[in-house]
Amino acid sequence: MVTTQGHPEDPGIQPEQLGLERTEPLYIECRDLFKIYKRAELEVVALRGLDLEVETGELIAIIGASGSGKSTLMNVLAGLDRPSAGQVRVGSRDLLDISDSELVMYRRLDVGFVWQATGRNLVSYLNVVDNIELPMAMAGTSTSERRNWSTELLSSLGLGDKAGRLPYQLSGGEQQRVAIAVALANRPKLLLADEPTGELDTQTAGQVFEMLRELNRTFGVTVVMVTHYPGVAHFVDRVVNIRDGRISSESYSSPTFQRQGDRVEEEYLVVDRAGRLQLPQEMTEQFGVGGLAKAGLEDGTITIKPVGDRPRPSRGNYRRETPAS
Ligand code: ADP
Ligand code: MG
Repeated sequence: MVTTQGHPEDPGIQPEQLGLERTEPLYIECRDLFKIYKRAELEVVALRGLDLEVETGELIAIIGASGSGKSTLMNVLAGLDRPSAGQVRVGSRDLLDISDSELVMYRRLDVGFVWQATGRNLVSYLNVVDNIELPMAMAGTSTSERRNWSTELLSSLGLGDKAGRLPYQLSGGEQQRVAIAVALANRPKLLLADEPTGELDTQTAGQVFEMLRELNRTFGVTVVMVTHYPGVAHFVDRVVNIRDGRISSESYSSPTFQRQGDRVEEEYLVVDRAGRLQLPQEMTEQFGVGGLAKAGLEDGTITIKPVGDRPRPSRGNYRRETPAS
C-alpha cells in the first residue's frame, strides 16, 4: 500500500511548504513532452509525457538510470534535437514550433552547453582565453568587451593565471572549468551540462559543482545538469529523478532547524498533469508490474491497494461460431 500525505484543503504540495519561496517566473516549461527516435523499423520512445518546470535562476540536477532519457531531455533543451510532441518552452521560445534560423540563434545566444567528454568542449589548438572568446567573436562582440568578459569569467573560475595555456596543459578539472566559461561566453540565460564531472575524481567534481553554484548565484544563470555524483544534493536547489522518459520523483534539500549547516533531503513522488504517478522501484517490485490496483482519496490521503492479477475474460463469451456453409 502506498500512502501520500497532503493537506486536506490543498492536495498539491506548495514550494512554501517545503521552505522554498516561489518568487521567480518559470524559465523552462515542459508539458507532456515526447521524443521518439525512429531507426529503420524500430521506434524508441526516449521521453514519454515528461513534465518539468524550472524557475528562473534555479539550479537543478537530473539523475536516473542509463537509458532513462536524461541526455535526450538535455539535447531537446539545448535545441540540438527536436521534440516529437508536447510542449517545451524555454524563456520566450517555443522549441516545438521554432524555425531553423531561430534555433541557430537560440543555440548561439540563449543556451550554453558543457559535455562530459572534456575533449569535446574545447578547441585543442586554441589557448584558454581564445577558446572563451571564440563564441563571442562569432556573435560579433567587440574586442574590448570580449577581453573584459573573458577576464571576469576566468577570475570567477579561479583560472586567472591559466589564460595562455592550451587545453592539454590543463588538468581535467581545469578543462571543465574552462568549458563552463566557454558555455557562458555569450551570457546565456541557461546553462546545460550533461555529466560534466563524469571523467573527474570525486574531489575535483566537488570543486566543479561549487563553481557552478557560485556562477549561478553571481550571474543568475539557470542551470540544469545531469550527474551521477552522489553528493550533488548539497550543491543544488532540487534533484529531479527521471525514469522511463518521465519525471518520477523530486528531492528538495533544506536546512534543518536543529543544527545549523545540517541539511535534510526529502523525496516526493510526482503526479504529472495527466494524473500519472510512478511508484518507487522497490514498491513496483513488491506490487508486481502490470497488476491491478484500487485507488482511494480520503482526507487528503491517497491510498493505492494492489488487488492482484487481472481477471481473465471468460473465453465462452468470445467464442466465434463457424457459420455452417
Ligand atoms: P540517458 O542519457 O539517460 O542514458 P538517453 O537519453 O541517451 O538516456 O537515451 C534514452 C533512450 O533513447 C535509450 O533507449 C537510447 O538508446 C535511445 N536513444 C537516444 N538517442 C538515440 C538516437 N539518436 N537514436 C535512437 N535511439 C536513441
Ligand atoms: Mg546520457
